[in-house]
Amino acid sequence: MIPTRRYSGERVVVMGLGKSGLSAARSLRSSGAGVEVWDDKPTSLAACTANGFAAFDGAGMNLEGVRALIWSPGVPHAYPKAHALAVKARAAKLPLVCDVDLLLEAQTEAAVVAITGTNGKSTTTALTAHIFEQAGRKIAVGGNLGVPALDLEPLGLGGTYVLELSSYQLELVPHLACETAVLLNITPDHLDRHGGMDGYIAAKRRIFARQRHPQTAIIGIDHPHCRVIYDALRGDDLHRVVPISVERAVGGGVYVTDGMLIDATGSAPSTILDLRLAKSLPGAHNWQNAAAAAAAALAHGIPASTIAAGLKSFPGLSHRQELVAVVDNVSFINDSKATNADAADKALRCYRNIYWIAGGQAKAGGISSLAPLFPHIRHAFLIGESAKDFAETLRGKVAFELCPDLDSAIAAAGEMALADKQPGATVLLSPACASFDMFRDFEDRGDAFRETVLELWPQIAKATNSEPGKART
Ligand code: ADP
Repeated sequence: MIPTRRYSGERVVVMGLGKSGLSAARSLRSSGAGVEVWDDKPTSLAACTANGFAAFDGAGMNLEGVRALIWSPGVPHAYPKAHALAVKARAAKLPLVCDVDLLLEAQTEAAVVAITGTNGKSTTTALTAHIFEQAGRKIAVGGNLGVPALDLEPLGLGGTYVLELSSYQLELVPHLACETAVLLNITPDHLDRHGGMDGYIAAKRRIFARQRHPQTAIIGIDHPHCRVIYDALRGDDLHRVVPISVERAVGGGVYVTDGMLIDATGSAPSTILDLRLAKSLPGAHNWQNAAAAAAAALAHGIPASTIAAGLKSFPGLSHRQELVAVVDNVSFINDSKATNADAADKALRCYRNIYWIAGGQAKAGGISSLAPLFPHIRHAFLIGESAKDFAETLRGKVAFELCPDLDSAIAAAGEMALADKQPGATVLLSPACASFDMFRDFEDRGDAFRETVLELWPQIAKATNSEPGKART
């Protein structure tokens, strides 16, 4: 746990008692702060006060003498409608900060690598942490991924925090001035929370706001919104800017051309690795993540050979194109994190002869955008609330069947794939849907996939690295 001594003896309020709010409340209390907690959900508040925390007066909202207001990123403070407490705090000139900001204030001697983007944050964060670990660096990894910021170890001088930051968190970290900031990509997301696309872009851009030379800004320039930010930062002379691309060679940057990862940050471009050797990073989207992690490692003086070894040995994250098993040349892939068509698109691109398990709680737009990839699918096995709608989209283009649940879809897909004996056959769970109609969350759904595959084909249980919770570093 990170001590937050700056607030010893002071009155502080923690608003929102999810994982990060609770972690902040615990850290502040153990550092001697007078913590008061609040959550609009009475059960969350009661669970916290049962642990001895004093409740803030959420009705009266008296902020007199409050030194800090620790705001949970999940609670709207501006859009779609500002919470009344946020309005009151702003009127009192009290900044809203999240737990990550307390970490930054408390651990000023440690370095920070912060990673954001619409997609690929968790993969890039875990990959960067893996490479730094392989290089023998003292690191801690967390933030939006896994461990809340204040539950990490204090690292001090010589240590590096590798932090995944969401757009929500970036609005609440006024002390962020990290050694290395990574912006992977920007596509429309969470627009209701940011008052539209401009607000979303502005939130993402904050990752660079307080950086100064020689701190490094790494930007994926393949997306138009990121390109605009790249041009602006390059022009302002305050940052060391490193572009990354999987579409073109970029001088002074790190890029991927024909699968080769190239370091052009030095005087002459040199190859780091043929990324086809990085088995847990399939597809151009993962190559973007690899380029970003490599650029971050280079900025911290990690040699190319160590980066290459780290990319090859990265075990991948669970639920993101996770290879669960191979049975008689049929691969079983768990891509349960693909909760929308955009994410499923990335996986469908990577394979041919796909036995596709899809469906769940539908997202707007359905799967019609995936039509160019339908030729990759041999047969679809449709589950969940969206099954009938998906069937209508596939009718006449892709053979499909409706399955009553995930288990029967796995059994049917596996049997068909094993009988067909197509080259590179892949049973792919990439649902293009949320999981909540049948599962607790996408992790629960992916765990169920993994367990059922190993139950149905137990002979392959030890053939692959399929342990539950794998590599969620
Ligand atoms: P995040 O943490 O931003 O949600 P993840 O690393 O968990 O991202 O990946 C989630 C899904 O997003 C993956 O399963 C994949 O479909 C897609 N994805 C991963 N990296 C990228 C990328 N660089 N660009 C676009 N999509 C990506």
